[in-house]
Amino acid sequence: MPDFYVGCVTQCLSETELLVMRRNGTEELVENIVPHETDYDSVELGDVVKIEERPSHEDRAVDIYSRTGFSSGNIAAVVEDVFNGTAIVRTNNGLSTVTRVPSHVSAGETIAVTAGWTYHDRLSDSPPDIDDLLPESETSDDYEWRYDDDISVTLEDIGGLDHVKRAIREQIIQPLDAENEELRETLGVTLSQGLLFHGPAGTGKTRTAKAVTNHVDGDLFIVDGPELVSKYYGETERQIRDVFQEAERAAEASGNPSIVFFDELDSMAPSRGQADETERRIVAQLLSELDGFDERGDIIVIGATNLIDEIDQAILRPGRFDTQLEFSKPELEAREAILQISIGDTPIAEDVDLTVVAEQTGDFTGADLAAVVEQAKYLALQDGEKSVRMEHLRISAARRQEAQG
Ligand code: ADP
Repeated sequence: MPDFYVGCVTQCLSETELLVMRRNGTEELVENIVPHETDYDSVELGDVVKIEERPSHEDRAVDIYSRTGFSSGNIAAVVEDVFNGTAIVRTNNGLSTVTRVPSHVSAGETIAVTAGWTYHDRLSDSPPDIDDLLPESETSDDYEWRYDDDISVTLEDIGGLDHVKRAIREQIIQPLDAENEELRETLGVTLSQGLLFHGPAGTGKTRTAKAVTNHVDGDLFIVDGPELVSKYYGETERQIRDVFQEAERAAEASGNPSIVFFDELDSMAPSRGQADETERRIVAQLLSELDGFDERGDIIVIGATNLIDEIDQAILRPGRFDTQLEFSKPELEAREAILQISIGDTPIAEDVDLTVVAEQTGDFTGADLAAVVEQAKYLALQDGEKSVRMEHLRISAARRQEAQG
């Protein structure tokens, strides 16, 4: 069986060349296309096509799945904003401006644009949604939000952050412990389902989400905010829906909660003033998922951000991301603990004094400290030694400091 994939035509470059948007959001140039069926006419912008990859041939057989073609324009773009005849539009290559836009065109609509970036036609009143156009059999899940790597990290492998670890033990791990089920019901304890981790990059937010997953023996779903937002065509909201559905299914299958981790949440849910049309739709979708928690109870959502002031306040209201935990750069004692954790089982020479290293790495994040240890191991290897010496750690820390300026 030849391999095939499905996509929405976003540009007709020539009779034999197309740009298509695949369901995972990537755009692909399809060259040397040939019709697959006899009744094939030329492909139009917006058509959903099936592209057969034929490794033995130069050509790509194209089959039209759904004829929603717009038959005009070169590029489909979703309008973000319009003023004075100019529109800000989102295409899969990011934001652009389009001129000569009539006044009846408004935000959220899809328009066809000429190759010279002028308005050509209005295509639909909403962003095209590939899934709605696809035949039923093709709409199966092909998103991969589930984090499949082995997760072995526990809260004990996190240095410092005592208040974070305490909150997680009290609000998630203990209430979920089967032994406490009766007590939990008697006391009417509700689980904390929305947590917001905020603090600088590299302070252990992702690591902590992994530890939570590990402790509740659940599945982890990681959604990268910027990656999600960079995909448009109505796919973004669907992907949010999908990740929650997937997480729910996983929780049902395992009998344990799923963790959905939104990294860089600020990129998906910026405060109202800064949000464009796409982002407002994403926030609305996210809120509707968060507000559906009561019926679920088997999903724990964790948002991470280093820009808490720039997040939409609606998301932080009670019942949503209402447990907010601050991740700060580690203090001296925590730095020593992180160094120790990062070293793990690696043999160290007798002269190593981690307190001294911790003292010399004042402004470092946990990620910096982990990197110092990694680099020190390379240095030991370079010296052909079987253990890490103080000198290796010292040089490695100095280099890191220098790199940070
Ligand atoms: P964030 O999500 O806040 O950007 P990560 O959790 O991805 O940070 O941290 C990156 C790496 O830095 C981790 O894999 C770990 O090696 C190290 N690290 C960061 N903070 C800590 C910590 N508190 N304890 C142990 N290791 C840490």
